[in-house]
Formats: sequence, C-alpha cells, structure tokens
Amino acid sequence: MIHPNTEVKMVNPQIGLGVFATKFIPKGTILYVVDDMELIYPKDHEMLRSEKYRPHIEKFSYTDQHGNRIVSWDYAKYINHYCDFNSISTGYGFEIAIRDIEAGEQITDDYGALNIEREMECGCGKSNCRKVIRPNDVVTYAKEWDEVIIPALKKIHENEQPLLNYVDDETKGKLDYFLKNNSGYLSIKELFYNRELEHKNYSLNGVAQSIKKTL
Ligand SMILES: [Zn+2]
Repeated sequence: MIHPNTEVKMVNPQIGLGVFATKFIPKGTILYVVDDMELIYPKDHEMLRSEKYRPHIEKFSYTDQHGNRIVSWDYAKYINHYCDFNSISTGYGFEIAIRDIEAGEQITDDYGALNIEREMECGCGKSNCRKVIRPNDVVTYAKEWDEVIIPALKKIHENEQPLLNYVDDETKGKLDYFLKNNSGYLSIKELFYNRELEHKNYSLNGVAQSIKKTL
C-alpha cells in the first residue's frame, strides 16, 4: 500500500507513469508497506510459467527475499528508479522516505533493492547514476544504504504514519527493539534473494530427477 498523500502522473513518454507527493512528506515517513492485500506469486506459481501473464507480472512486480513476486494492488507499482532515490526499501517490509519530499516531487526508489532478474541500464541522468543496476546491488551497497535508512528510521515516531497500522506486530516489535536498544538492526541486505542459488537448486533437482529416471 502506498502512502495516501501521493498520486500517479505521467513523467514523460519515455519513462511513463510515476508516483508524486501531493503534500510535503517528511524524512522518516513510511511510503510503502507490504500489506495483506498485495498479490503474491510464490516462485513456483503457475502464472510465472504462463507466456501470457509472465511478462506483465515481471513488469509490475518486485521480488522479495523469499523469491515471491509481489504485484502491488495499488499504484505503488509505478514508483520509478532513480540513482538519487528519496525513498528506499528496508529490512522491515516497508519503504521509507530518506529525506524530506516536497509536494509535487516524484517519489523514487532504488530497483537494486528489489531483486531484479537481470541487469538493467539506467538513464536517470543523476550525477550519481550507476548506469547499470545489478541484481546484487543490495549486497554491494547495503552499508551505504543502511547509513541513510537508519537516521530515517530514528525519526519514525516523530511523523504521522498512516501506514504504520499495516506493518505486522512482529516487525513493529523488532523495529521498536532496535530504536530502543540501538541493536538488532535488520539491514537492507536481508532483502537479497539469491537467484543463482535457486537456479543451482533447480538444476541439482533436475540432475537428481534424471538419475532417478536412469535408475
Ligand atoms: Zn541512474
């Protein structure tokens, strides 16, 4: 679920739609949360083997740390990637504003934290543009990203948080523990889903199956 003080607008014909703030959103605001209404396709879901549906699911989903494809039921799926993002995923199942966002500003995040399946060229044109966004960027940049996430998390109880209600109690407990004790932080790198391992497991299974058949 996306924060209520947002709207979808056309960015330009090349980029297409994007999500924009309709009011000032302060740093430390939860902008997106995985709620119970999200459409979740586990990695072995038949829709992901469907030639008809897979391209659409790929285009509008991201992959969580368990390999599930998640398609947002609302317009959170239109958040664009910019290398100087103002919002980013966290190890707590939500995205947070890492700086103040003005009314009218586009809300952007980093697709490097979303387990993209293959490398993606980036033409965001920002001075810190990485040019290529890679599936394992969340591991490569975890330290750098955690350093901007933590100060935002520390402001979480200073702001109005309409989405906090949709964060599950266990996660809220872990977050409050970290905020109180400054330990037990869930790093963004927890979001990494290792596809290579998955493919290896699949091929090992394949080998096991064919050995079984041969026997
Ligand atoms: Zn870029």
